[in-house]
Amino acid sequence: MKIEENYSLLNHNTFGIDVKARYFVEYHSVAELVELLQMDMVKQHPLLAIGSGSNLLFTKNFDGVVIHSKICCYETIRETDKHIYVRVGSGVVWDDFCATVAERGLGGTENLSYIPGEVGASAVQNIGAYGVEVADIISHVETVEIATGKTRLFDVSECEYGYRTSIFKTTLKNQYVVTAVEFRLDKIPQFKLDYGNLSESVASINPLTVKAVRDAVIAIRKSKLPEPSKLGNAGSFFKNPLIAESHFNQLRRQYTTMPFYRADGGLVKIPAAWLIEQCGWKGKTFGGAGVYEKQPLVLINKNNATAGDICLLADAICKSVSNKFGITIEPEVNYI
Ligand SMILES: Cc1cc2nc3c(=O)[nH]c(=O)nc-3n(C[C@H](O)[C@H](O)[C@H](O)COP(=O)(O)OP(=O)(O)OC[C@H]3O[C@@H](n4cnc5c(N)ncnc54)[C@H](O)[C@@H]3O)c2cc1C
Repeated sequence: MKIEENYSLLNHNTFGIDVKARYFVEYHSVAELVELLQMDMVKQHPLLAIGSGSNLLFTKNFDGVVIHSKICCYETIRETDKHIYVRVGSGVVWDDFCATVAERGLGGTENLSYIPGEVGASAVQNIGAYGVEVADIISHVETVEIATGKTRLFDVSECEYGYRTSIFKTTLKNQYVVTAVEFRLDKIPQFKLDYGNLSESVASINPLTVKAVRDAVIAIRKSKLPEPSKLGNAGSFFKNPLIAESHFNQLRRQYTTMPFYRADGGLVKIPAAWLIEQCGWKGKTFGGAGVYEKQPLVLINKNNATAGDICLLADAICKSVSNKFGITIEPEVNYI
């Protein structure tokens, strides 16, 4: 293991913020990770596990140890009539995994294609797109406890998955490092196409395949979202807020075209992109930061933005949504 000091994280966050980590280390196995966690350097400083930094906003230099998984295994572990279970290392690029299983014709990941990031973070974040969340196909999450170096296997039922959240972001935040994830994939794919214009995009394809759905998802995503390599961003900056039915009824009388989705517990989900657009933010800039013209939920590094520019822009957006609609929108991006 190579321990880098005073290491630039510029190539480890998709916003393209040039901050430094006091220490940076990549580990290639569970044994290496356990060895790393026992070092004084780790015990004496804050620790941050990162993937490819596609959901991080570094607000300052990180005066601690940043660790990154290079555990890149991929193996089939068991099989039933309907399912194939695969175990994938946390350092595998998420979309490489989606491409591999699509080639095998296995269903489950196709709607989640082309989401940036790595397999470890997918299980922390509960990534989701086109009506599917990764929690739907996870069976187990393999971890190492930071304090003790002990391995622990979480059944999916213990992960407390919810909208872009898990136990690893809440009760057990910063306590476990994910080393591998076990996925349950369908031998006979069960396509979910009832979200956005996905069904239209694949309507003429017969027979429909996992690869065809994956290609359609990628084409739609490419037409809507900026490529982080060309324009720094972290995807959706805010979560879609959930509001009470009474609040929704009151707003709907005034904003008759307001889009909405019914959610659990009698709550109503309002697209944050619509709220932000209604406040006039689409295409607006602040310092080097901006609101993406095609999708106002995405904040971009337009011109050498500092983290301060992005934070101020995000705060201003939150305030105007709160003033206009009485709704609090919260960042999906992790501020570090
Ligand atoms: C253009 C674009 C589009 C996007 N679209 C979507 C989308 O459609 N749906 C969606 O859900 N997300 C989307 N995202 C957000 C992002 O891709 C996901 O959140 C992704 O899971 C982040 O992966 P990462 O490897 O970059 O993790 P990072 O951003 O590096 O880390 C994310 C969090 O996970 C933790 N973490 C990372 N690895 C580990 C580990 N091994 N063990 C423990 N904790 C760990 C980090 O500490 C941090 O809290 C998008 C981002 C971009 C830039």
